[in-house]
Amino acid sequence: MVTAPRNLPTIAPSLPELARNIEAVRECIAAAAARAGRDAASVTLIAVSKTVPLERLRGIDVAGATDLGENRVQEAAAKIEALGRAVSWHLVGHLQRNKARAAVALFDLIHSVNDVELAAALDRHASALGKRQRVLFQVNVSGEESKGGFDPAALPAVAERLAALPSLQPEGLMTIAPQGVGDAELRRVFGALRALHGQLAPAFGVERWRQLSMGMSDDYQAAVEEGATLVRVGRAIFGERPLSSEQADGGRQSQQRER
Ligand SMILES: *Cc1c(COP(=O)(O)O)cnc(C)c1O
Repeated sequence: MVTAPRNLPTIAPSLPELARNIEAVRECIAAAAARAGRDAASVTLIAVSKTVPLERLRGIDVAGATDLGENRVQEAAAKIEALGRAVSWHLVGHLQRNKARAAVALFDLIHSVNDVELAAALDRHASALGKRQRVLFQVNVSGEESKGGFDPAALPAVAERLAALPSLQPEGLMTIAPQGVGDAELRRVFGALRALHGQLAPAFGVERWRQLSMGMSDDYQAAVEEGATLVRVGRAIFGERPLSSEQADGGRQSQQRER
């Protein structure tokens, strides 16, 4: 059983502390990759900076982050405008269709495409902006009602339609594991996403279809052992998010409540 570090940083870490936290997470990723006989370079660490104030993110690229993840389009827009594109920007949170255009303009990779209509809207906006939008399809592997995403059983039936959208570049799948479950259940969820990914590879083209976005602060080591290529780590780098305010918590809790 792999246990994630429980000694999460609690208060606003300084830039040198962020650099140390990022390095520590990278070391855990490397160890998990080694246990699974994988190359650590095949795993990209996305530092999930949602709710972290812009001022604390200045210099984050120098502190070792190559990729930042956000879950709200507006919050991300301000950060991207100020910090620029020294890092790649990922949308990891739920995307409303009326924000699809803004999301296409902002994000390098959108992880949370959760229905065909949203995919079609993103495709239209990408086409209008002359962009090929990289996307992942979110899958609700665990079947929790509170979670969004495609039903894993339904995704194969719409794969051809999704693959035919000319301005989208589907690269793989994303899931959020249930909270507070044991190692066996985590591995069942991550393993199921990997299996579905393999099953869908012929529809999307094996070359580009290479991403498995799974694993957060509490479970990224198990996810890496199960094949994750993108891990989305917030609290283990930036510290606990404020829990008091729903507005401030863009995280798993509000995401579960929303759905
Ligand atoms: C908030 C969030 C994360 C990061 O969660 P931590 O527990 O802080 O690591 C990852 N993925 C998604 C979709 C999120 O909303």
